[in-house]
Amino acid sequence: MLLGNHWGPCGFGRICVRCLCNEVSIQSQSKFPFVNSSFSYTMCSPNRVLALVPTTAFYSEDIWLQFPSRATLDPRALEQWGWREASASVLWPDSHKATETGTKELVLRDVGEEDTSREAAAGVAAPESWLLLHCRLDFWRGPAQPGSPIDIRVPFPSIQAVKVFLEARDIRYTVMIEDVQSLLDEEQEQMFASQSWARSTNTFNYATYHTLREIYDFMDLLAAEHPQLVSKLQIGSSYEGRPIYVLKFSTGGNNRPAIWIDTGIHSREWVTQASGVWFAKKITQDYGQDPTLTAILDNMDIFLEIVTNPDGFAFTHSKNRLWRKTRSLTSGSTCIGVDPNRNWDAGFGKAGASSNPCSETYRGKFANSEVEVKSIVDFVKDHRNIKAFISIHSYSQLLLYPFGYKKESPADKDELDQVARSAVEALTSLYGTKFKYGSIITTIYQASGGTIDWTYNQGIKYSFTFELRDTGRYGFLLPASQIVPTAQETWLALLTIMEHTLNHPY
Ligand SMILES: [Zn+2]
Repeated sequence: MLLGNHWGPCGFGRICVRCLCNEVSIQSQSKFPFVNSSFSYTMCSPNRVLALVPTTAFYSEDIWLQFPSRATLDPRALEQWGWREASASVLWPDSHKATETGTKELVLRDVGEEDTSREAAAGVAAPESWLLLHCRLDFWRGPAQPGSPIDIRVPFPSIQAVKVFLEARDIRYTVMIEDVQSLLDEEQEQMFASQSWARSTNTFNYATYHTLREIYDFMDLLAAEHPQLVSKLQIGSSYEGRPIYVLKFSTGGNNRPAIWIDTGIHSREWVTQASGVWFAKKITQDYGQDPTLTAILDNMDIFLEIVTNPDGFAFTHSKNRLWRKTRSLTSGSTCIGVDPNRNWDAGFGKAGASSNPCSETYRGKFANSEVEVKSIVDFVKDHRNIKAFISIHSYSQLLLYPFGYKKESPADKDELDQVARSAVEALTSLYGTKFKYGSIITTIYQASGGTIDWTYNQGIKYSFTFELRDTGRYGFLLPASQIVPTAQETWLALLTIMEHTLNHPY
């Protein structure tokens, strides 16, 4: 029998591996931010405990086990632990397949350690590797700051093992969503019940989730109804050949300073695309009525990309509601897709992204490998006059500014922090929804290759990213009844940022 087994007790800040055979090599690729770079260990003797002290929060996805001799492989043991063979000597946890199961699943919340020391933070992170490797977990919210929650979707066959694991280590948890499938079913029923073909954007139902086709039809209706204000641009085609559209709101001029807003780069974050649709309608309603928006559009253009990851979005409707990444193929792997928010050319390949194609945060083979990312990069470079860039995600209720890939503060930190505070105040004023704000790395975790780090490095000072509702009660499965309130409150924050951009030309 052969296993690389996470093993305790080793205390906080260590990952412990007990080798049950004598021909196991455990390696991490450079992205795994242990003691500076990678660690490797070969030919460990039976029962020897390997203890490694990570210097920072780490991600488990990059662990892979390499078995030098095929003769030692015992397929039954591998199957039992949820491993599968990806090539002759490399094994990946089968996380891809697990995310497509439709059976009853739990979402557990690790409520964090009370001890907020750095060691404790690492201790919370350590079980993650074991859990992900053996129980095929889907981290809806990964380890971040000490004391902040971790949300994990647990496939049904792993529920017992995960509970035992957490309880044995005194890690407190609560069950957020008892049965994910029931929420998926409710969402489907709600969509079906609200289905109708809109003849105009006035009869379009903004309080339900829509398919890609319906959103693309909406864009055409809106552009046809407001030819003087709205036009539809195609900035590229997705990996699977779908058109990538951007709505341009402009009252004239020549290459005016512009504001960019995108939603849905992570396809499962459905409240973002739905909010994007609502923003588009709101802009056409308020121009000429609302003095702030009117002043903005009399001087600047707004570009809005509602479905930033069309292949992923189509897939969330057809196969797997919880699909996050693009749908591109990676040679040498059976796992599909790249995380389009780790694929930008800003700290690409540094800690906070995965080199494992099966990971939800897989960065891709090289920066801009994803055409969905590259299309925006080309657009921004061609335009050369974008002054604010806002990329919208869910969930967690955060407003973030650069950087994600490094600890260093951006040169404009004080101003960005002030703008973020005002934007959050405006947002909260409507329904009392609480948002935190700050830089990505200090507010959540290190994430490399992210959108707004790249835009900021391109000289777009007002680069922000939102994480919309909620904080985990429903997570990505936010009920449709919350779409309009979410969009309304977010709009107030967007207006604040856009107005500041208008009044502070640079
Ligand atoms: Zn996201």
